[in-house]
Amino acid sequence: MTIKLRGHHLLCLLGFRGKGYSADFCVNMTQIYEKLRQEPHTLIQLIVGPDDICAAFPTDQVSHCENRRVYTQDEEIARLIGIRIGESWTWSSVCEAVVARVQPSDIASLCHDCQWQPYGLCREGVAHIHQEPRLRSLPES
Ligand code: SF4
Repeated sequence: MTIKLRGHHLLCLLGFRGKGYSADFCVNMTQIYEKLRQEPHTLIQLIVGPDDICAAFPTDQVSHCENRRVYTQDEEIARLIGIRIGESWTWSSVCEAVVARVQPSDIASLCHDCQWQPYGLCREGVAHIHQEPRLRSLPES
C-alpha cells in the first residue's frame, strides 16, 4: 500500500494531534497517521493536488485543497525536503530528510497563512522528529 501525499501534508502529519476539520476527516487522517507511525517503512508517493488526506475533507465546508497558494506551499515544502513529484519514499526516509533539511522555525514562513499554524503544533512536531525520528502517539481522545 502506497499512501499518496501532497507536499504540505508531509509536515501536517508531523503536527497532527488528532484534531481536524470534521470527525470523518480526523478518522481518515488518524488511519494514515497510525499506519505511518506503526509501520514507518510504508511507502508514500508525492503527488500534485488533492491526496489521500484531502479525500476526507468535508463536503459542506469551503475547501482550500485546490487553492493556488496551497499548490505553491506544496512545492516549497517538497523542495525543502528534497522529494520530487512522483517519487515514492518510505515514511522513515521522509522523517530523516526533515531532520536534515527542515527546522521547527521554518513552519512560520512555510505555513504563514495556515489556520493551524498559530497553535504551534506543527513547529512542535518538527522539533519532536529532530529528537526522535518517529511519529508521537496521539493523545487519548
Ligand atoms: S501549519 Fe498548517 S500547512 Fe503547515 S504543517 Fe501545520 S497544518 Fe500543515
